[in-house]
Amino acid sequence: MGVTVEILPLLTDNYAYLVTDAESGAVAVVDPGEAGPVLARVRERGGRLDWILLTHHHGDHVAGVGELVAATGARVAGPAADARRLPPLDRALAEGEVFELGRAAARVIATPGHTAGHLCYLFEASGDLFCADTLFVMGCGRLFEGDAATMWASLSKLSRLPPETKVWCGHEYTLANARFALWVTPDDPAVRERAREVERLRSEERPTVPSTIGVERATNPFLRPFDPAIRRRLGLEGASDAEVFGALRRAKDGFKG
Ligand code: ZN
Ligand code: FE
Repeated sequence: MGVTVEILPLLTDNYAYLVTDAESGAVAVVDPGEAGPVLARVRERGGRLDWILLTHHHGDHVAGVGELVAATGARVAGPAADARRLPPLDRALAEGEVFELGRAAARVIATPGHTAGHLCYLFEASGDLFCADTLFVMGCGRLFEGDAATMWASLSKLSRLPPETKVWCGHEYTLANARFALWVTPDDPAVRERAREVERLRSEERPTVPSTIGVERATNPFLRPFDPAIRRRLGLEGASDAEVFGALRRAKDGFKG
């Protein structure tokens, strides 16, 4: 048993997710950056919202919390490390803890880098990872509150999860990420094939989530700083993985496609 996941596109390019425990019917929303569309969907499904699960403090992930709490009575769970800059938490979470949603459970994984307190949630029974702005499809989050070594350590943790783990990230940035990946490794067949797939999905206005950890390990340059082709491209053959990762992140920051 495990959870089922429904994608809720919000704002310009954010994804929130409705997560339902099949056994108990308990429902959580991950990162409601606005309330309206979440509330509308929750009401269509019968009105049940037990938890609001937050990954980090940025407004595009939390702005809907107050209105959702007022309308549904849902409780709020999120990173203890960021409690002072989050809406009031009913449950403050940290690395290694388990968040219970009805009979389902998510392992809490600390992934500092994008923000200092960023958490990811892994529902292990069904292999669903909510990784928000740490790991994107073919990309990763910007380094607002951490250095390259910190973010690389966080991404390495996610990269070591089982390859079939589904990757549900916080934004639909995949097309731009694919273009950058093609700039980094223009001759990589896996990257080229994935980029074509992404072009097709987006031309049909379909989401590129979920990806999987296995696909990301093969096609996401930010999980591959050890790749000789990437190192050659950046002229960093002798550097550490964290250094190559940092150079990739800086190149992406300045990339115009
Ligand atoms: Zn963010
Ligand atoms: Fe975001």
